[in-house]
Amino acid sequence: MFKKEIFAKIQVPAGGKVRISDFDPGWKQVAELWSTERKPDEEATEFRAKKVLAESRTQLAEAQELLWASDTYAILIILQAMDAAGKDSTIRHVMSGVNPQGCQVYNFKVPSEEELDHNFLWRHMKALPERGRIGIFNRSYYEDVLVVKVHPEYLRKLPPGKVNKNFWNARYEDINAFERHLTRNGTVILKFFLNISKGEQRKRFLKRLNRADKHWKFSLSDMKERAYWDDYMKVFEDALSATSTEWAPWYVIPADKKWAARSIVAQIITATIQSLDLEYPEVTPEQTAQFDEARRQLENEANGPG
Ligand code: ADP
Repeated sequence: MFKKEIFAKIQVPAGGKVRISDFDPGWKQVAELWSTERKPDEEATEFRAKKVLAESRTQLAEAQELLWASDTYAILIILQAMDAAGKDSTIRHVMSGVNPQGCQVYNFKVPSEEELDHNFLWRHMKALPERGRIGIFNRSYYEDVLVVKVHPEYLRKLPPGKVNKNFWNARYEDINAFERHLTRNGTVILKFFLNISKGEQRKRFLKRLNRADKHWKFSLSDMKERAYWDDYMKVFEDALSATSTEWAPWYVIPADKKWAARSIVAQIITATIQSLDLEYPEVTPEQTAQFDEARRQLENEANGPG
């Protein structure tokens, strides 16, 4: 398990201005996070990360049961990234041990006409996890300050007004207020930006093109968005700087090494739920008496006919 100080290295400080280029997407950052030795070996680190992921999964399954039983908190996990950064596979790997009944994943795509008829948070509000559950937003209302900021032509049906700095600042403010409201009411929010490099995205796109069984994953619109890489980095910087708060922090996850990204995300989620210090609901003396009675009845049944 990473220590708290290590998490701090990839957590965006509240109220600060973050530069994505300060976070290395690859081995350099991973080595820095894991290294107890001075010259960590990549293969050995990968082996260790996979072991840690397996352990985290077991712990996460236990933590989730407690989350469910204590019925007080919900966990909201937000994943944002450039295409091919591994959002889907991170979800699959991290959540694979968790009881499906206590977990829900929502993918947010281009909004429908009905969704555009409401405020930009509406469709996400409807999808929030209930107490006891882990909800994952695969993309989220952050798209409304990311893709929409890169392509303001997506803004439709809004009251007249200039789309300027104030407009975007108002959106960040709304998001912060919304998240503050949620956390005050028992939803713990974790936000992950899976940080891949442009070179790694190129490799992953080429793999999708070169393997027939991966063709379904490739889309020309992903290519189109790649051309806006620098614009995206800028809007990510703006959004992360404006919305990493004490109550809902952003983590910048090095994502060029898939094994590292999965292990880090799993550990942060597990450590966060564990830090809630949840307990199974207490059994009252009346309930204990009722259980004794039920046990007595069942034991008598076993001795009787049938
Ligand atoms: P994914 O890439 O998450 O697997 P898709 O390939 O279907 O899923 O992509 C979903 C698309 O929907 C993305 O290009 C994303 O930018 C877009 N999208 C999500 N929310 C919005 C929004 N509010 N406005 C415009 N586009 C959005």
